[in-house]
Amino acid sequence: MTVPREQNALPGIWTADLSRSFYGNVNALSNKLKGNQSPRAPKNYRQSVPRAKEMKGYLLSYEEELHLADHIAFLAHVEEGVEYVSAAVLQEMSDPPGFTFRLASNQTPRSTVVNGIEKILGIVRDHAKAGKHRQQYQSQLFEEIVSFSEKRIYGRMRTHHWVKPEHFGKGKSRLPPLYVRIDRILEGIWGPDGQIIAEFASLRASVIALRDALEKVDQEDADDQANLLKDAILKSYDVSNQGSSKSLETHLQILGLDERIQASREVAEIDKLSNYWGICKDLIRLSRQPETRFHCQNLNLEICDAYPASQPPGAADLCFVHGEVQLIFFYEKYKNDLPPRAIGSSKSACFLCDLFIKHHGQFGISHSHMKLYPKWTIPDSSEWMNQHPQQRKRFRGMIRSMDNEICGLLNKNVYYHNAAMESRAHVLLLEQRSSIAASASTVTSISGVPRTPSLLAVRMSSSASSSSSTTVQQIGTAVAAHPSIYQLEDLPVTIDISPSTTFCELTAGLVSYFFDFEDIATTGMLCIADNPRSAEQQRGEKRVDVNTTGLSFDSSVCIQAEPGSRHLAFIVHADGRHELGVSVTWHEP
Ligand SMILES: [Zn+2]
Repeated sequence: MTVPREQNALPGIWTADLSRSFYGNVNALSNKLKGNQSPRAPKNYRQSVPRAKEMKGYLLSYEEELHLADHIAFLAHVEEGVEYVSAAVLQEMSDPPGFTFRLASNQTPRSTVVNGIEKILGIVRDHAKAGKHRQQYQSQLFEEIVSFSEKRIYGRMRTHHWVKPEHFGKGKSRLPPLYVRIDRILEGIWGPDGQIIAEFASLRASVIALRDALEKVDQEDADDQANLLKDAILKSYDVSNQGSSKSLETHLQILGLDERIQASREVAEIDKLSNYWGICKDLIRLSRQPETRFHCQNLNLEICDAYPASQPPGAADLCFVHGEVQLIFFYEKYKNDLPPRAIGSSKSACFLCDLFIKHHGQFGISHSHMKLYPKWTIPDSSEWMNQHPQQRKRFRGMIRSMDNEICGLLNKNVYYHNAAMESRAHVLLLEQRSSIAASASTVTSISGVPRTPSLLAVRMSSSASSSSSTTVQQIGTAVAAHPSIYQLEDLPVTIDISPSTTFCELTAGLVSYFFDFEDIATTGMLCIADNPRSAEQQRGEKRVDVNTTGLSFDSSVCIQAEPGSRHLAFIVHADGRHELGVSVTWHEP
């Protein structure tokens, strides 16, 4: 490919004067910065006040749009390497309803990336169309996400499966596996004066479980790798979702632990590993809840072709058009009734993208690491700009404003030591709406994982526990969240299933059972009792027997009710321990 060394000064965006002034100041600023310095301190926009102004016509909140866009960009950065650095937006369509993710990477996304993400979105679309069998679609989606992202996941875990990319220097490749480095985090998780308090104990227990799961991935070359990988990701999710925290980084902050641990690469990697399951949950929720389900039936992926590198007048080197800039340009050219409001990205925005986005004013982002990359440009787009002089004027104005701001920073002459990671895992800070969906399933399915044996573990009482759950699915619809959490001591319990019942949870020793009522169309009753066999013998019944030991996360046992029957009963146990008798009766619809 031949690359134009000098762009035509007119009639595109860049005039020779504008370009020389802008790049002159960019290069001067770049020369002032030493080592790890940046012109501004990193900024986390997710922590800013949510956008208060109501935007008419949009289905999703701004925060949710940004969060989902971040997810797709995160997945698209499927291999380590600058060419995979990606940005994405989520565009809503109202007539017909639909969602389009638009992806832009430093180099035009490769077909493997496009096909992989299309496959993932295909499962989400199918789930939206089916409107039932959530557990099955969720397992399938998780399987697909993990298999698509396998290389990157191995890279994050630094197991022996990881193949060092050619562009890597020696430093990064010498990192020991993540499970070895996790010990450093463990050393830091102690209460004041070495006290063991419940939150620390719970966190330690989940970090130890994660460390063991990661070690297994590294040491076993079994056919079972996919399951080991999924297990380690679920264990990361447990670590990242302690108590009401949604990331390990924030949880460590709340506990007031050493800042060096909070900001460590290991903590960031754990939050990113957890993200693979978080993405899966978010996409399943999106395709299930009635408000967005129809949109998800028409869920698409579009990509932007990257612009060729160019060297505008005054630039020191060939310059590139970052994904964020590509997306802004796309929506400048193709105006839209409901233009996206947020740009998600796989790496935090650089200083110049941050500045450009700010002066453009239409989009928000999650985070900026604020490092200055002088080989940055916006496309000249001469042909198109020549036909749109108003937009050209506006863009030239933006460049001038950026240039002025850079001049101001040069005069101020204050720079920031910046050791920030260039990418972070972001969490949605808003409360999620409860999911609602109709289903006509006549099958009751169970899936469960025994929790890692540990007396220290404190159960979370959030729906996050679906990573280690037993699920009972039935016919139906349900609304709102009225969670009920029970212990073995509470048994026997009888729970009325009404449209407002979402789930109930029962903790029995090492296993947590999660009874999910979201699919229930009619009212009914759930009874759970311990020591079920004696009652059974008294009545001379024979019930289906389910052993949860050895079940991995996505394995399932299906128990079919007798045709026409409105009653189902079974016994659940972990290798004979904690036997529970479960019976479900549902009323006439
Ligand atoms: Zn950038």
